[in-house]
Amino acid sequence: MEFGFTEREELLRKSIAEFAEREIAPLVEKMETEGEFDPCLIPKLAQMGILGIITPPEYGGTGMGHVAKTIVIEEIAKVCPGVGLTLEGHFVCTYLIQTFGTQEQKSRYLPLLTSGEALGSLSVTEPTGGSDVAGIQTRAAKRGNCYVLTGRKCFISNSHLAKIHATLARTGEGSKGLSTFILENTFPGFSLGRKERKMGLRGATTGEIVLQECKVPLDNLVGKEGEGMKQVLATINQAGRPGMAAVALGICYASLVHGARFARERELYGRPISDLQAIQFLLADIYAQAEGAKLLLYRAASLLDHGEDADVEATLAKYMACEAAFKCARQAAEIHGGYSAIKGYTMERLLRDAYVTIPSTGTAQVAKVVLGRHVMKHLHN
Ligand SMILES: Cc1cc2nc3c(=O)[nH]c(=O)nc-3n(C[C@H](O)[C@H](O)[C@H](O)COP(=O)(O)OP(=O)(O)OC[C@H]3O[C@@H](n4cnc5c(N)ncnc54)[C@H](O)[C@@H]3O)c2cc1C
Repeated sequence: MEFGFTEREELLRKSIAEFAEREIAPLVEKMETEGEFDPCLIPKLAQMGILGIITPPEYGGTGMGHVAKTIVIEEIAKVCPGVGLTLEGHFVCTYLIQTFGTQEQKSRYLPLLTSGEALGSLSVTEPTGGSDVAGIQTRAAKRGNCYVLTGRKCFISNSHLAKIHATLARTGEGSKGLSTFILENTFPGFSLGRKERKMGLRGATTGEIVLQECKVPLDNLVGKEGEGMKQVLATINQAGRPGMAAVALGICYASLVHGARFARERELYGRPISDLQAIQFLLADIYAQAEGAKLLLYRAASLLDHGEDADVEATLAKYMACEAAFKCARQAAEIHGGYSAIKGYTMERLLRDAYVTIPSTGTAQVAKVVLGRHVMKHLHN
C-alpha cells in the first residue's frame, strides 16, 4: 500500500491551490453575501480542465480520476467550500452519465459538461424526505414519443445554474420502479422553484426544481426502466460522498491554517497565545482530525481509481470527514475567542460551512446505518 502522492498529483495540487487563490478568493465575500455561486467561474474552471477531471478524454475530459478529483475539490474548498460543493454537484451528474448512459447520451452531454457549456446536477431529494430514496414521488409516464415527468425536487446543488439535470423519477412501484432521466433546463414543463438561503456553503447555489408535465424524449432514459435506484446509489457512493468528504477535508485544513495563524498573531500576557499549551492542544486535535480524514478519503478515492466500488470506504470517509470538519472548525473558532462570532472572520464562515456538509449527500445517521450493516455482515463473528 502506498501513502504518497505522485509528482503529477503534487503538481496538480499546487496549480489548483494557486488557481483558487487567484480566481476564487477574490469572489468569496461576494458569493457569501449573495448566497450563490458566481457563474463567471465556470469558463475558468473549464479552462483548467477541472469540470472534466473524471471524464474520459474521448468526451472532452482529462480522465485523471478520483484521486485527482479529490485533490481539486480539497484545494478549492480550502479557499471556498461552497465552490467545492458546486463541483461535487456537477461531478455526480457527469459520473452518472459516463457510467450508466448510452453511447449517444455520453456523446451528446459529456462534451457540454466538460467544456463548461453546461453545469450538471443530480436531482433526487424531494420535500417528502431525502433519506428515503425509494419513497420519492415524482412520476414519469410514457406518453407517445416521450416521458412526462411531474414532481418537485428540493435542496438540489446547482439547481438554478445547471443546464443538465440527471433526475430520478418513478416509472413503477417500490425501489425497483425508479428510473433516471437526463433533463435539459429548456425542456417544456421544466421550471425552477425557490432558491434556498443556506446558513453555510453559500458559495453554492441550492434550490428547487419543479416538473409540471415535463416532456423528456424517450432516448433520455438512462439505461432501462427500473435501474434508477441502483444508478443513483452507486453515483452517490462513488462520486457524491467522496466529493462531499473532499469539501469537508478542505474545511479541516483551512481551520488548521486559520487557527494557527490567529494563535501566532494574537498576544495575551505579553506573548502569542500559541505559547499556551491549551491552544497547542486545540491545534493538535485539529491536525489529528484532518490527517485521519485525509487517509480515509484518499484510500476510498484510490480504491475507486483501481476499479473497486468502495461504497463502505467512501461512506466512512464522508462520515468521518464531515464530523472532523465540524470539530476542526469549532476548535479553530475557539482559538479566535470572541472574534469567531464576528462577520468577516473566516472562522465564522467555516464553522457554518462545516455544519452544512453533514446532511449533504446523506446524513450522519444514514451513513451509520450503512456502516452498522457492514460491521454486522462482514466484521462481526
Ligand atoms: C447543501 C446541500 C446540498 C444538497 N445537494 C443535493 C443534491 O445536489 N441533490 C439531491 O438530490 N439532494 C441534495 N441534498 C439533499 C440531501 O441529500 C438531503 O438533505 C439528505 O439526504 C437528508 O434528507 P432530508 O433533508 O430530507 O432529511 P430526512 O431524510 O427527512 O431525515 C430527517 C432525519 O431522520 C434521520 N434518518 C433518516 N433515515 C434514517 C434511518 N434509516 N435511520 C436513522 N435515522 C434516519 C436523518 O438522519 C435526519 O436526522 C442537499 C442537501 C444540502 C443540505
